Amino acid sequence: MQKAALAEKKKGRRIALVPTMGFFHEGHLSLMREARRRADILVVSNFVNPTQFGPKEDLARYPRDFKRDCKLAEQIPVDIMFAPRNEDMYPTSFRTFVEVEGWGKVLCGMTRPTHFRGVTTIVLKLFNIVQPDVAVFGWKDAQQFLILRRMVEDLNLPVEMVGGEIVREKNGLAMSSRNKYLTNEEFEDASVINKTLKKAFVLIKEGADIDAVRHFIIKSISQTKYGKLDYVDFVSRSTLEPLEQIKKGDTLIALAVFFGKTRLIDNLRV
Ligand code: AMP
Repeated sequence: MQKAALAEKKKGRRIALVPTMGFFHEGHLSLMREARRRADILVVSNFVNPTQFGPKEDLARYPRDFKRDCKLAEQIPVDIMFAPRNEDMYPTSFRTFVEVEGWGKVLCGMTRPTHFRGVTTIVLKLFNIVQPDVAVFGWKDAQQFLILRRMVEDLNLPVEMVGGEIVREKNGLAMSSRNKYLTNEEFEDASVINKTLKKAFVLIKEGADIDAVRHFIIKSISQTKYGKLDYVDFVSRSTLEPLEQIKKGDTLIALAVFFGKTRLIDNLRV
């Protein structure tokens, strides 16, 4: 992969990368289309990265369908699907991790303390292998995007970072490979997450403060049949620090909600 990338660069071609864990849905495809427009060569990585899963998480049962992914990628079209094996990315001698200090311990990092160092490490490896000029990530995983953007700036990586909008199911639920775990009833119930965020946006427009909006979100999720709120936090997008007041253009409202054992995330940027 690295040889192919360096050869393309030598010819003056611009490379775009969309990192994924496969099992494509419309969210992935929209990022690929965005990336396609921005470069000559489109590389999509398809790798379920073990270092971003905790010991009790769903690594073994994470959904995979490589054949279907290949067919969908052809339609974009993707030039190279990079699908390494675990032993290629993490040989037994592997020892190096990269971490954006502090930022991986808040929000989703509270319950997934090693998740983001797995993400930053694999993405830095992918950047070194694929040599992209531009990389596209989804705002669905807002904390991930902000952490990766911080890493790129801190480590002077010559990669333009692009955020793609959240693609949703008809009922408003953010698309996710993990939605496959939901029963039909849970899937319908989970539409409350987006409805709640939309209403929160209206409340903020009407001048509600953070306490009032937080209270509304907690109450709204508690009224669902299956949803159990993991967290909801209001943080600055530039520092990831908790906010006391809504700061227009810098506020991230991030939340995670359990439906059964399935943990879903969503967010609102104000
Ligand atoms: P994943 O395969 O879940 O690791 O996701 C790969 C990329 O797709 C990440 O940058 C995600 O943020 C992005 N992504 C996942 N779901 C969505 C969605 N519903 N809308 C937009 N981007 C998404």
